[in-house]
Amino acid sequence: MVVGVFELRTPEDRAVPQGVIPAMAAALEQCLPVRVAGLKPLEIPQGAYDARRAQWSAPAVLESVLASLPEGIPKALAVTGVDLFIPMLSFVYGQAQLKGRAGVVSVARLRQEFYGLPGNEALLLERARKEAVHEAGHLLGLVHCSSPGCVMRLSVQVGQIDLKGEAPCPSCAARLREVSA
Ligand SMILES: [Zn+2]
Ligand SMILES: [Zn+2]
Repeated sequence: MVVGVFELRTPEDRAVPQGVIPAMAAALEQCLPVRVAGLKPLEIPQGAYDARRAQWSAPAVLESVLASLPEGIPKALAVTGVDLFIPMLSFVYGQAQLKGRAGVVSVARLRQEFYGLPGNEALLLERARKEAVHEAGHLLGLVHCSSPGCVMRLSVQVGQIDLKGEAPCPSCAARLREVSA
């Protein structure tokens, strides 16, 4: 299975830090039965911006990712520096269609600077790898898992991302073999 990975560029000064996308691509190939194709960056759709919340709508972003998937790319993961939300929640680290074609990961809340702390590139890359594998896991049909350490465990705080690993647990890995067989 090929998964396209690309940056969703923003007009604001919220670029995805260098090194994040290559780290995500490496994690995806190490942890999941996928091959990564690097795709050209796209501009984030302005219509996805919610001025009242000063955040971007993850469902609206996904729609535009879906509309722009090149031929031959069955699934794709967009990576953005802006903060994302879905209507039910104050924010999301990412969102993906279950067993679908499009997902998105935001690095906004993966950066220590977001919490008023000094930057930590190694920690940012570690978090970015886990969130990329998590959202791509959804694309491949994995649901949330309660096993401690499993990458498919739901994280609602950044500390929970730090507690889990970047690979699927044995039972999620078995499920992946079933769904990709
Ligand atoms: Zn999830
Ligand atoms: Zn699991």
